[in-house]
Amino acid sequence: MRLVLLGPPGAGKGTQAERLVKKHGIIQLSTGDMLRAAVAAGTPVGLEAKDLIAKGALVPDEIVVRIVSDRIEEPDARNGFILDGFPRTVSQAQALDDLLDDKDMKLDAVVELKVDDGVLMSRVERRAGELAAAGKPVRSDDAPEVVRRRIDDYNNVTSQLRPFYQEKGLHAAVDGMASIEDVAAQIDAELAAARSPAT
Ligand code: AMP
Repeated sequence: MRLVLLGPPGAGKGTQAERLVKKHGIIQLSTGDMLRAAVAAGTPVGLEAKDLIAKGALVPDEIVVRIVSDRIEEPDARNGFILDGFPRTVSQAQALDDLLDDKDMKLDAVVELKVDDGVLMSRVERRAGELAAAGKPVRSDDAPEVVRRRIDDYNNVTSQLRPFYQEKGLHAAVDGMASIEDVAAQIDAELAAARSPAT
């Protein structure tokens, strides 16, 4: 199964992706995680991405497209994958289409978790507070003013993926403000529908 999980910061993509990974034996491919690893390792990609991530700005399309393209070639992606945090722009979505075509692959579904902006801000603040209380590192881009920018980017830029995928009959919206279990059930229902489309 090949799935795109769309949603603003704090929508619960990571939580749901983790569950889907276990359930379907597929991998989670988070461009944010891969970029943070590149920053930590000090690779050329990491050096280019570091300041942009810190500001909550988008990293250039060609960088993220390249890391996704390389990653889905790896053997553990053969069973399928969940793209989390990618694509974020229509140009990334077009590049994803092209690279999947080249590899003779296709997306099964694009699931968007919808959560009100105010709820997102408080969720991200709570997550940062919980990490800090547990003595774990807090993401510097979880600072409120940076989260605001990331949410605005989602609403202004990434939201354009909605019509892009609706036109292809791939987009499904899920109420991300429901409980974790309810969100999981809604996603499972959408995936089941995507895999056996009504005739
Ligand atoms: P995330 O963990 O998905 O919230 O991503 C953290 C940060 O990594 C984002 O705020 C961007 O700076 C960068 N990033 C992650 N994925 C992408 C992407 N698909 N396109 C551009 N920048 C990205």
